[in-house]
Amino acid sequence: PGDQAEPDPTKKTLVILGSGWGAVSLLKKLDTENYNVIVISPRNYFLFTPLLPSCTTGTIEHRSIMEPVRNFLRHKKAAVKFYEAEATKIDYAKKVVYINDESEVKGATSSTEVPFDMLVVGVGAENATFGIPGVREHSCFLKEVNDAQRIRKRIMDCCETATFKDQSPEERKRLLHMVVVGGGPTGVEFAGELQDFFENDLKTWMPEIADEFKVTLVEALPSVLPMFSKQLIDYTEQTFKEETIEIRTKTMVKNVTKDYIEAEYVGADGKKVMEKIPYGLLVWATGNAVRPVVKDLMSQIPAQADARRGLNVNEYLVVKGTENVWAVGDCAVANYAPTAQVAAQEGAFLARLFNQMAKTEEIEAELKSLSVAQETAPKDARDQIFANIKDLQKRLRRTNSMGPFEYSHQGSLAYIGSEKAVADISWLTGNIATGGTVTYFFWRSAYLSMCFSTRNRVLVLMDWIKAKTFGRDVSRE
Ligand code: FAD
Ligand code: NAD
Repeated sequence: PGDQAEPDPTKKTLVILGSGWGAVSLLKKLDTENYNVIVISPRNYFLFTPLLPSCTTGTIEHRSIMEPVRNFLRHKKAAVKFYEAEATKIDYAKKVVYINDESEVKGATSSTEVPFDMLVVGVGAENATFGIPGVREHSCFLKEVNDAQRIRKRIMDCCETATFKDQSPEERKRLLHMVVVGGGPTGVEFAGELQDFFENDLKTWMPEIADEFKVTLVEALPSVLPMFSKQLIDYTEQTFKEETIEIRTKTMVKNVTKDYIEAEYVGADGKKVMEKIPYGLLVWATGNAVRPVVKDLMSQIPAQADARRGLNVNEYLVVKGTENVWAVGDCAVANYAPTAQVAAQEGAFLARLFNQMAKTEEIEAELKSLSVAQETAPKDARDQIFANIKDLQKRLRRTNSMGPFEYSHQGSLAYIGSEKAVADISWLTGNIATGGTVTYFFWRSAYLSMCFSTRNRVLVLMDWIKAKTFGRDVSRE
């Protein structure tokens, strides 16, 4: 009955868009009894993205890193409504969000509107393609569960098709060429996972492809992992060399067709060269772009005229130019990198802020009624009321004293294949840059401890044991 309960007219309606790192970390810490809370997201689960690259090869099964929204909303003190839908438009002036059911099964009503008093935008970002032709049609992204499933299926499809009877050597070579575009952490981690899959499993089950299977990473900048320290960039590039992953830096992809990409680099003679690179699987990991619903909201707020990469927010994560709209995570621009670490801290900050705001309002209302009571109360009771007012004013000052959001960087971690990882960790005395097998065990334990729930932790651990004991599953499904 909780989910169907009517909203309490004495409380403000807080609408939260998204079920990712920002939104879920807000929900975890929010005292839901203070507001009528409504969550809207096209996916009814939280996804632990740091382990998503492992799902592309079956090292981890995708359901092990998903946590249904209903699971954790159930434990909140007051009921929270969840609508599985996409916010298609936010009308800032009308204080309404328009939502659409984008899932396969649609009822007689599949689009409607949700009014809000307060709104938190945590819709993340979409994949950047920079308008390069053919990217959407021919490549796989790596952001959501279905992307990882699609890649997993395609790797096996390429391998099986390459070994099809009478396949020409040239076509075999193309089908077994796995190209990754973007040398950020997503591209690097995926390339590492894929090479592991080949070395540990594919080579054994399909020895006939052993000489031709090849992974290439294409990056426009002079190095991969630009956010890591120089020493770790060198370490990653060296490890990739040993793993026989080819890194093509200073190479910018300009066009994508069904069978090859066209990439530009500067040749030895200083002239630009356009090269055709045939591929069987193409994974596109070139970072983030602003979602249309966010772009549209930006266009409604004059103070956002200069915003480019997302909603400009102030130090309390309020969307600049508004009073009742906040933004967290990849769709917010607050001078931090678009990472899960930032999104989670922003979400937790907003939960504290909203909890404080509710307390403040409660005290203010009490103060108001006490001031009225003081005027009409008999003389001997007035002193007591006065003391109570003083006490409340003190509490009000305390609750109002919440400082702005401050991000605390714990470090950056990335898996680079062959049981090695790199880590730039912030420590009391400064920064520690480390890479290798010990770092890999640190990476594993850190991500295991960060998993959303004990259930996720157990499932991930079992997947790791399963892959180590029996090898990864090479069924094409
Ligand atoms: P998301 O987590 O992407 O969540 C957005 C939510 O909004 C989703 O639930 C989505 O369904 C929903 N949504 C989308 N459109 C709408 C709409 N129109 N209406 C309503 N809801 C909508 N960061 C790290 O710090 N460490 C890592 O190791 C790491 N690894 C990563 C690995 C991969 C493969 C990827 C892709 C990213 C990784 N990141 C990592 C980055 C991290 O995942 C993001 O920075 C983080 O997810 C941002 O959180 P968010 O809440 O803004 O967005
Ligand atoms: P990114 O923005 O970090 O990297 C994208 C890379 O693609 C850039 O280096 C860019 O130069 C390159 N690129 C762009 N266009 C290109 C083209 N046409 N041809 C060749 N190269 C091109 O993107 P990401 O790796 O998807 O990461 C997105 C965010 O998520 C980042 O903030 C990242 O830190 C975070 N993330 C973190 C981790 C981790 O900490 N382990 C893992 C994944 C993602």
